[in-house]
Amino acid sequence: MRNRLSAALALSTISFFLAASGAAAAARPVWLVAAGKADITPDLAHETVWLAGFGADGRKPTGIQSHLYARALLVSDGRKTVALVAVDTIGLYRRDVMDMRRAAGWTGPDRYLFVSATHSHSTPDSLGLWGRFPGVSGVNEQYRHDVITAVADLVNRLDKKLAPARFYAAETDVNPRGLCRDSRDPVVIDPELDVLQFRSLARPSKTIGTLVRWSCHPEVMWDDNDEVSADYPGVLCRTVEKKTGGACVFQSGVIGGLLTPDVDRKGGPPQEIKEMNRVGTAVADDALRIIGKAQSIAPASVSFSSRTLVIPVENSRYLLLLPHLTYGHRVFDKNGKPLSKWMTYWIPLKQLLFFPIPKPQEPRVKTEIALVKLGPVKILGVPGELFPELAIGGYHGRYRFGHPLVKPGNPNPPDLAKAPKGPYLRQELHARVGIIVGLANDELGYIMPNYDFKISRTRLMLPRLPGDHYEETNSIGPSVTGILLNAYKKMLAR
Ligand SMILES: [Zn+2]
Repeated sequence: MRNRLSAALALSTISFFLAASGAAAAARPVWLVAAGKADITPDLAHETVWLAGFGADGRKPTGIQSHLYARALLVSDGRKTVALVAVDTIGLYRRDVMDMRRAAGWTGPDRYLFVSATHSHSTPDSLGLWGRFPGVSGVNEQYRHDVITAVADLVNRLDKKLAPARFYAAETDVNPRGLCRDSRDPVVIDPELDVLQFRSLARPSKTIGTLVRWSCHPEVMWDDNDEVSADYPGVLCRTVEKKTGGACVFQSGVIGGLLTPDVDRKGGPPQEIKEMNRVGTAVADDALRIIGKAQSIAPASVSFSSRTLVIPVENSRYLLLLPHLTYGHRVFDKNGKPLSKWMTYWIPLKQLLFFPIPKPQEPRVKTEIALVKLGPVKILGVPGELFPELAIGGYHGRYRFGHPLVKPGNPNPPDLAKAPKGPYLRQELHARVGIIVGLANDELGYIMPNYDFKISRTRLMLPRLPGDHYEETNSIGPSVTGILLNAYKKMLAR
């Protein structure tokens, strides 16, 4: 395999050192850190789970291909503490995250639980979309409860172990060829690899925890696989943990629109395992290489902010799933009143009879956006699968990595003249190391640019339009994008 860190791509490895000034030294805080993991592999002998991901065709796992974990990295300045938690799961609803916060007792102003899903397919259904039959939830209530308890116990155990640490941060662009490709035009692949690492102040050779953020769907193990698997993030974390010690948290970046592994699956699951190991190891090695060269970041303050946003449910498929959404999201009317159970059945029927339902009658859900600052490092939480172009642009081919920007013969190609001009979210972060994390604190599905939001009939999402228009069917609707981007603008301006 080619050396992806070759001169072919102008690498922009950024590592930096912020010198502590004499004045700041007197009251200088110290990074206090702890990291660890909890095994959340389902016990297949005693509980029934259904594998998530791909079509809802009732995949009952026959074995454990790799263990699943909840991993956490706690960072504190002595006053405020943030727990960056990543769970090997397809996704978590805001309600799951709120339950984790309540179970952990992390609801006060000084502690924040930032929980993201690795989005590994081949993990137990956590969203209620992949049961025995289409339309039947596959969520195992006991397993869900066990995961929530495991996260709560993990962060509270680590909270007692916070120890002084040195902080390193780095980011680079990695050539995605052979690792990740874009299945939807225009081809925009986010090449950014972000790494944070904390090493013991007392024993500099001891790594306490590492965080790796990269953008690509964890779906190397395809729908022909019948075993529980953490997919490539599991390999990546295992590799980092084996080589450096400590725990490794993997955060999924901007993977909508749709970044998928650039792998060869001919040969079925045995070949998929080889490819999964290849991708996970390659990204882990790149992460370790860049963090090995990074310089330390002087102790500074830890801060966080989060906001609750109201999002209309416009997608007919989501409307049909309202009784399920009430499991994941509480659904509200325009006055903020929770919808009754019978209304969640009546609205889909109304949608079918009197399509489309009037805008003011659209149900709404609440979601959460978050910004964590570890000194100069910013981590932005996005509650779903953001299209990479909304984060980094690339409509002129900057991130196509040798692929055609638009496939010849695409029946409904994007009209690039109408694409948003920028600045894009990554630029608006204004951070040397700025990390945009997807599937953070909620899962609303794809968050896509409106200029290419195309559906076959006005607002009825089925059947989908020919060409690259799958994502529309798994997006809460076109309005979510503007609501989120405006809210981020305000949050980042503060
Ligand atoms: Zn996805």
